[in-house]
Amino acid sequence: MKILIDEAAIQRRVTELAADIRTAYGAEPFLFLVVLKGAFMFAADLFRRIGAPGMRIDFIRLSSYRGTHSSGKVEIPKGELAHFAGQNILIVEDIVDTGLTLEVFTKALTDAGARSVRICSFLEKTTVNNGRVKIDFLGFPIPDKFVVGYGLDCDEMHRDLPHVAVYNEE
Ligand code: 5GP
Repeated sequence: MKILIDEAAIQRRVTELAADIRTAYGAEPFLFLVVLKGAFMFAADLFRRIGAPGMRIDFIRLSSYRGTHSSGKVEIPKGELAHFAGQNILIVEDIVDTGLTLEVFTKALTDAGARSVRICSFLEKTTVNNGRVKIDFLGFPIPDKFVVGYGLDCDEMHRDLPHVAVYNEE
C-alpha cells in the first residue's frame, strides 16, 4: 500500500499538536474524549505529550461507517451524554470525512450541557468536509481517498501500521 504520511512526520506533528493544545487550555480543566476505535493510537501518543495539569481522559464509541462506505447514520450511546454536562470537552477523532459524525456528536454534547466543545482530528478530507465541521486542532489534511494505518482500519485490519497508507494503492 502506498504510504501517504510516514511515521516520522506523524510523530513530529503529534508533538506540535500537543503543544498547541497545552497552550490553548492552560490551567483550565478539560476532558480529552477519545472517539473509538480509530483514534486510539493517535490519542495515546498525543495524550502523553500534552502534560496539562487539569486534563482527564474518557472514551466513547460512535459508529457511522461500515467497510469503506458511510452508512449516513450516527449512533451515540445516549446514556453517556449526561456525564459531559458542564465540562470543557476536547473531542479526539481519527478522521473527519463528510463531517456528519462530528456534526451530530458536537450538537449532542452541546444539547447535553457541555461547557465548551473543541475538536482535535488526526486527519481531515478537506474537500469532503468542506467547512461543515470546524476542526480546532488538525494533524493533516488529506485527499479524498480511503486510508488505513495508525489506528485506522479496513474491516478491523491494518490498524497496527505506524504510518498512514492509501488502501489498495501500490
Ligand atoms: P464522517 O462522519 O466524517 O463522514 O466519517 C467519519 C468516520 O468515518 C471516521 O471516524 C472513520 O471511522 C470513518 N472514515 C472516514 N474516512 C475514512 C478513511 O479514509 N479510512 C478509514 N479507515 N475510516 C474512515
